[in-house]
Amino acid sequence: HHGWIEVVVGPMYSGKSEELIRRTKRAKIAKQKVLVFKPAIDNRYSVDEVVSHSGQKNDAILIEKACEILGHVDMDTEVVAIDEVQFLDKEVVNVARQLANKGLRVIAAGLDMDFRGEPFGPTPELLAIAEFVDKITAVCMICGDPAHRTQRLINGKPAGYDEPTILVGATESYEARCRLHHEVPRD
Ligand code: ADP
Repeated sequence: HHGWIEVVVGPMYSGKSEELIRRTKRAKIAKQKVLVFKPAIDNRYSVDEVVSHSGQKNDAILIEKACEILGHVDMDTEVVAIDEVQFLDKEVVNVARQLANKGLRVIAAGLDMDFRGEPFGPTPELLAIAEFVDKITAVCMICGDPAHRTQRLINGKPAGYDEPTILVGATESYEARCRLHHEVPRD
């Protein structure tokens, strides 16, 4: 009996956390032992839970490095779910492969692209080795079409290509946008 890797990707607000919660809830109904992990860096709403933008939640184990996952998995573990996988190091690709080879079901959810529209962290490699891939969409906040991208706004204006990740004193926000309305100014 072999395992497999499932990946759920899309922009912010596309429902990745909701989908991860839905899948793990069903696994628990099937009486499978599920472990949910998320990178410690993502402290949106709460520390040790996966919380969707619509308020659903899941208990999660916070990790700083992907290799920590292996230390939590025991003989009974059947499903390993990882949210916000884009923030983990590339070792998560090997961890997912090892677990699937051992017979576990691995579900990874995360951003496929950063605010620039470029591949994000380890997600592209996970997409390549996964058996199952779902690329889901949000709603474009400008036109209402399906949105595949995440618009970063700094003080309400589109963030430039070279903008640093952390800005002191500025208010930043994110919106789902389609290709047409996704703006990344370059100077
Ligand atoms: P993700 O994990 O992909 O960021 P979540 O699962 O946290 O997404 O949240 C999805 C929820 O966000 C939707 O069910 C909806 O209630 C809400 N939402 C807010 N803005 C949008 C948008 N622009 N498009 C779609 N859903 C949105």
